[in-house]
Amino acid sequence: MSTLADNLSAISARIASAAQAVGRDPASVQLLAVSKTKPASAIREIHAAGVRDFGENYLQEALTKQQALSDLPLIWHFIGPIQSNKTKAIAEHFDWVHSVDRLKIAQRLSEQRPAGLAPLNICLQVNVSGEDSKSGCTPADLPALAKAVAALPNLRLRGLMAIPKPTEDRATQEAAFASLRKLQEGLGFGLDTLSMGMSHDLEAAIAQGATWVRIGTALFGARDYGNT
Ligand SMILES: *Cc1c(COP(=O)(O)O)cnc(C)c1O
Repeated sequence: MSTLADNLSAISARIASAAQAVGRDPASVQLLAVSKTKPASAIREIHAAGVRDFGENYLQEALTKQQALSDLPLIWHFIGPIQSNKTKAIAEHFDWVHSVDRLKIAQRLSEQRPAGLAPLNICLQVNVSGEDSKSGCTPADLPALAKAVAALPNLRLRGLMAIPKPTEDRATQEAAFASLRKLQEGLGFGLDTLSMGMSHDLEAAIAQGATWVRIGTALFGARDYGNT
């Protein structure tokens, strides 16, 4: 069995070779370790191996782990669907939110961001695969949403996020990521972030400009939802 540090080396090598394949500096792609369902001890181990940024999907689970890890200088990213009644705790306890897809949530996050903290970094989640069931705003709604979010005082709009429909076909993967990149380019807000690519499709995402890849399974192993 591989250790977490071995998994991290393998992921770092995949990121570096994917970046080099398209002439990008590997340092322009950041690793977000997605630790949902994984214990604080695993986060501690990955942090000791050099990772600073962790992504969580479930608020209560995240808050429990943050408390257990409060001695470490970690940067926390919220990446899951957001209900209105969760915005206050998210605004108080996270540095980034990747999954904002409607204005009401952004307004609440801005109002509830504590005065002593830096603006909350925001990515707007876009539904690039066109499935009804998925989270994310539509490409058609994106320009108005981005304009309104960019004007909120306690948020800093950084870029876009997508979770395309899973596929093993590289051309299909790249087409979805390319559409997110083009949407970002079309907005013209000086955005610097594309949060796209997971364990199975990080190479395609990096080829199309990802600046954050969100990696769970390939780093921490398969998730067991039965134990959470
Ligand atoms: C779980 C999750 C990931 C990580 O997915 P893996 O396939 O395990 O790498 C990335 N992004 C989001 C939004 C997730 O919910």
